[in-house]
Amino acid sequence: MASFTLHGIPVSRGISIGRAHLLTPAALDVKHYLVPEEQLEKEVQRLQDALAEVHRGLQALWTDLPKDAPTELGAFIDVHALILSDPMISEAPLDIIRTRHYNAEWALVTQIDELSAQFDEIEDEYLRERKADIQQVAERVLKVLMGSAQLAPAPRAAGDEFQPQMIVVAHDISPADMLQFRDRSFIGFVTDVGGQNSHTAIVARSLDIPAAVGMSQASSLIEQDDWVIIDGDAGVVIANPSPLVLEQYRARQAAMLKARKKLLKLKKTPAITRDGTAITLLANIELPDDCPGALESGAEGVGLFRSEFLFMGRSGHMHTLPDEDQQFEQYRKAVVAMKGRPVTIRTLDIGADKPLDPTEHTALNPALGLRAIRYCLAEPQLFLTQLRAILRASAFGKVRILIPMLAHAFEIDQSLAMIEQAKAQLREAGHKYDSAVEVGAMIEIPAAALAVPMFVRRMDFLSIGTNDLIQYTLAIDRVDYEVAHLYNPLHPAILQLIAMTIAAGKKAGIDVAVCGEMAGDTKLTRLLLGMGLREFSMHPAQLLSVKQEILNCDLGTITPHTRKIMRSMEPNAIAEAVAQLQTI
Ligand code: PEP
Ligand code: MG
Repeated sequence: MASFTLHGIPVSRGISIGRAHLLTPAALDVKHYLVPEEQLEKEVQRLQDALAEVHRGLQALWTDLPKDAPTELGAFIDVHALILSDPMISEAPLDIIRTRHYNAEWALVTQIDELSAQFDEIEDEYLRERKADIQQVAERVLKVLMGSAQLAPAPRAAGDEFQPQMIVVAHDISPADMLQFRDRSFIGFVTDVGGQNSHTAIVARSLDIPAAVGMSQASSLIEQDDWVIIDGDAGVVIANPSPLVLEQYRARQAAMLKARKKLLKLKKTPAITRDGTAITLLANIELPDDCPGALESGAEGVGLFRSEFLFMGRSGHMHTLPDEDQQFEQYRKAVVAMKGRPVTIRTLDIGADKPLDPTEHTALNPALGLRAIRYCLAEPQLFLTQLRAILRASAFGKVRILIPMLAHAFEIDQSLAMIEQAKAQLREAGHKYDSAVEVGAMIEIPAAALAVPMFVRRMDFLSIGTNDLIQYTLAIDRVDYEVAHLYNPLHPAILQLIAMTIAAGKKAGIDVAVCGEMAGDTKLTRLLLGMGLREFSMHPAQLLSVKQEILNCDLGTITPHTRKIMRSMEPNAIAEAVAQLQTI
């Protein structure tokens, strides 16, 4: 097999070497996980049982058919029964379970996809249309399988002996689908589309698994079971590498792992610069289950809990959002897990690349549409429910409320009024909450940074969302790989907006954090410190590397250099000076 190399966008650090698992869009609609060797036969049995049950169901349909039923109806049941008994359906998926370790649903969908592709090539229209019958049969089986889901072997738990070496290759993966991979069944991700700071990339980073996106043709060029190397630092994917290349990457991989292990020694070391300034390092999380990982990395609290992930990817629950009690349980779980450290819960930031229901019609410019706080203010009952749940969790530890995508004073005022309303409702219902709960604003729209005094006057703290700040300032869709090369955190306009926000917070004596991806980029740590930033919030996986930068940094030395950088309006000079900061 010929070796080839693809270049795209690096999104999650590290090197992975494994076999390609192609994920079709249909496969994303079902659960997909790898079944450990010793449970394979149980999984095969689960699929066989489902096939048998559908068979029985079809037979029952036949027997119950009224005498005067149209003859086509009987014929239609016959066709379905025939398809079900065909080895292509009754045997091939069982082989997929045994050879590829796919769970039953995934194995079935993979086989149906392969069959559908063959049907598409058939000239005869009548035969071509039988594809729909096959899909209907598959749906019957899937329905039974999903009903028996509780009998399915549980996805792998952390620390399990089973070591898969699978790399997911897909056209696209939504952030909600990405969350499904939390059990770490896979060691890398490659997608055709996506940007550096799309939420899919962010979740990949939070899983700390090498990934590269924007690979344009990867899912059509790479074949099932091809050997693949992902260089997550360079955004390079090598398919079918030669033994020599493989050896080189294995050596690099081993060196990286060693360096990471060494970093673990810094876990308990306080993050203080060489000249004695203490810096706060916080974690970004998607779900309460991320809290142990945050503590493991030495985080002093949660700086950003992206609460929308509780609402997303609830397949089968699309229109039943988590209610107040369910949300409260999740927020409380995070608060308790953080053992007294602050937990900053961002209110629902739904929309753009995080739709509540991916099947719903999306606006023409979703990033500019009814997103985040705009959505919440338009749906006051949904917002009040979330606010009550967050406030109730504040009785169990330090909670801070963070509001995303604010631009207008009236949005701030309305949000604050609704928090007061939620408090009043809780008092009436006899629920406890922290009456001094702090409320902060995300600064992620250029208008917010330019009018930051308007925020400082009303808010207890600020958190700069550089991902959106860059998207909106430079008018670049953060998800669109075709404009990814224009996504430049060092654009002078971006640096000015960040500096203005930090300065305004300092003047007013309120905390300012950066919780966008810039906070976790070690190449930018010194620049941000020199700009006066004292609070960084990032994925736990990045925290110790950033801490190491802080420990090696002397603020007195870098601050004058940073001032000079801030006076420059020349991107090349800025990039050069920032690189040089690293060497001081
Ligand atoms: C940001 O915009 O920088 C941010 C932290 O929020 P999100 O990435 O969830 O939009
Ligand atoms: Mg944002």
